[in-house]
Amino acid sequence: MIVSKKDIPNFLDKLISDYQVFAPVKKDTFTVFKQICSGKDAVLTADNTKLPVKELFFPQSEKLYSYSVTEEGAKLETTLDDQQKVVFGVRPCDAKSLVLLDHVFNNDKYQDPYYLTRRDNTVLVGIGCNNPASTCFCTSVNGGPFDTNGLDLLLVDTGDAYVVEVVSDKGKALAEKAGFAAAADADKAAAAKAKEDAVVACQVNLDGLKAKLDVNFYDPIWEKIHEKCLGCGACTYLCPTCHCFDIVDDAVDCNGCRVRNWDSCAFPLFTLHGSGHNPRTSNKERYRNRIMHKFKYFVDNNNEIACVGCGRCIKNCPVNMDIRVVLEDVRGSEARLDS
Ligand code: SF4
Ligand code: SF4
Repeated sequence: MIVSKKDIPNFLDKLISDYQVFAPVKKDTFTVFKQICSGKDAVLTADNTKLPVKELFFPQSEKLYSYSVTEEGAKLETTLDDQQKVVFGVRPCDAKSLVLLDHVFNNDKYQDPYYLTRRDNTVLVGIGCNNPASTCFCTSVNGGPFDTNGLDLLLVDTGDAYVVEVVSDKGKALAEKAGFAAAADADKAAAAKAKEDAVVACQVNLDGLKAKLDVNFYDPIWEKIHEKCLGCGACTYLCPTCHCFDIVDDAVDCNGCRVRNWDSCAFPLFTLHGSGHNPRTSNKERYRNRIMHKFKYFVDNNNEIACVGCGRCIKNCPVNMDIRVVLEDVRGSEARLDS
């Protein structure tokens, strides 16, 4: 199937009558995903959005339920967001990040109704990356600029049009509803060429990294690696796979609500116990945890690396910490098994 670029605003306008439609829109010097009221607002030419798509499924701050306690007892009220949504213009790395977050919010022990209701009711339309940024390294972490993992439809930019690839039943239903024309052989060939020409310039060699992390918890390399890090948490908030949160009650007298907020392992209070003990008192321990969580613990638990190589943490770190360099440094260090 194929859709001309000039028809995209009309296509989105039609979707808007049936769905809440989210797309990248311009904000200051970057783009973010926002609900759009007009197809013309979607900006599909920029690099990946500054904030990852995770916030549409796992918001930065979310009321889980409200409660009131009266003489008759306690009353809880909760609302799940079951609006039908289309997220248009998702890059493959962000789509894959949702597959990783599914392990966290939908597993044998726990199914998160807030996240899952949004996931079930959302169609993800991706756009492949013809020109990956210099900070991208998706191919080093089992992804790619045209990877369809997690998507329902993938659009491949062939110049004046997008060739549409159906990935899932949800995607098929949306494409049929849109009535896209069939792609000619020349269009399919142009899409194949675009895929071939897309170069992810940066490759990070992760060979042996997991084996190294399995044994180097006490390696002196950690003393050095974290030195520049300010512990600001920007990398964790902007990371599409970071998912730590805190839950607080906001209450006055007997009425209130329970709210879930993003948290960050970069912050000293993140691990502070009620007893006053804090198992991660230093920045070294916190930075080590960030790397360990993504490249060891998540792999141990889910057999997947919790990084999709989007490069946001590289682009946005105020002191230019580069996770690619950190990983190479860790991989190259000598393991120490003792404490
Ligand atoms: S963005 Fe940079 S300085 Fe801030 S916590 Fe992450 S690595 Fe450290
Ligand atoms: S660790 Fe950095 S490169 Fe990897 S997914 Fe998170 S923000 Fe992207």
